[in-house]
Amino acid sequence: MHEQSIHKTYQYKLKPTSEQELLLDRVLMLCRHIYNAAIGERRDAYHLRGISVTYYQQKAELPGIKEAMPEYGAVHSQVLQDVVLQVDRAFQAFFRRVKAGEIPGYPRFHGRDRYNSLTYPQFGNGATLENGFLMLSKIGRIAVRRSRPLEGTPKTITISREADGWYVSISCADVPTHPREPTERETGIDLGLESFATLADGTMIHNPRCYRRAERTLKTAQRRVSRRKQGSNRRRKAVKLLAKAHQTVKRQRQDFQHKTALRLVQQYDAIYHEDLQTANMLKNHHLAKSIADVGWSQFLSILHAKAAWAGRRVVAVPPAYTSQTCSGCGVIVSKGLSVRWHSCPDCGTSLHRDHNAAKNIERLGQSLRGGVALAAS
Ligand SMILES: [Zn+2]
Repeated sequence: MHEQSIHKTYQYKLKPTSEQELLLDRVLMLCRHIYNAAIGERRDAYHLRGISVTYYQQKAELPGIKEAMPEYGAVHSQVLQDVVLQVDRAFQAFFRRVKAGEIPGYPRFHGRDRYNSLTYPQFGNGATLENGFLMLSKIGRIAVRRSRPLEGTPKTITISREADGWYVSISCADVPTHPREPTERETGIDLGLESFATLADGTMIHNPRCYRRAERTLKTAQRRVSRRKQGSNRRRKAVKLLAKAHQTVKRQRQDFQHKTALRLVQQYDAIYHEDLQTANMLKNHHLAKSIADVGWSQFLSILHAKAAWAGRRVVAVPPAYTSQTCSGCGVIVSKGLSVRWHSCPDCGTSLHRDHNAAKNIERLGQSLRGGVALAAS
């Protein structure tokens, strides 16, 4: 039988000693200095001489830097190469957006609080796993809190500093999938502002209540930072608390999204959703929606990954008219965003607007597939 495999990233918490933490902090600082210097070099070359510096030129400068500044002996050379590669990516993205007619921000210098990860691009070269420990050249053997077993072939290792400590992300290729038994059920999913998501059978999935409490804490923390004097010790403490609050919100959101995606993947063989990128071009932007957008695309990427792993299908469909079309008879019933109920004057179908949209999304997905639709939910 042909085995399917996917890419997957595993994240584990690290338990470095305080000595190792100092070393990691130091390596991050050195990387950040190279990052900023590489940005500065490109800027100057462009503004003063009108030329652009390439990744290969900057990479070729690294051995010279190591020779001139012995402190860089503490940083693995592939990690440094990855830093200039990140600079290159930032510039590539910048130029892509300029070309597309947007007005992007120029790649920025990063301050201490904005530079928090380093990557070993080649597993086994400077970073490897041994008996459950992470082995980093020049830093040593770091204990890993292993929560779930790693599968597949490790490719890259990224170490990141978060508000509550250090983490390692190991991206793996050739991870075997774990196909689930078919349920013979499919659904459409409408992502909304009122409830997080609505399914084709009318189920509404709401954002958890803890969000609001966490957001209040976040606001208080933000105000505390802005009240305190710049450069003061008290402000530094407040910044730490703010970072923690941010992390709590992020964790809660991720946790909710993972649980929601898992439930959907357990219940349905196929899940259809609106293509968000096209949806963005169609709908007008307001702040609440653009914030929600981020959450939706994060959720969809989790859903796609879980589905691939479980042998399920998640399919994006074009969003045109999914909320205006009547799911009962197909007639267009125009309604503004504030109209939350769909009632069809033609066939009498009456249901929540998002429920109607989810049904349309499901049918659209099934028709695109061209095959026989499974039992509608
Ligand atoms: Zn109708």
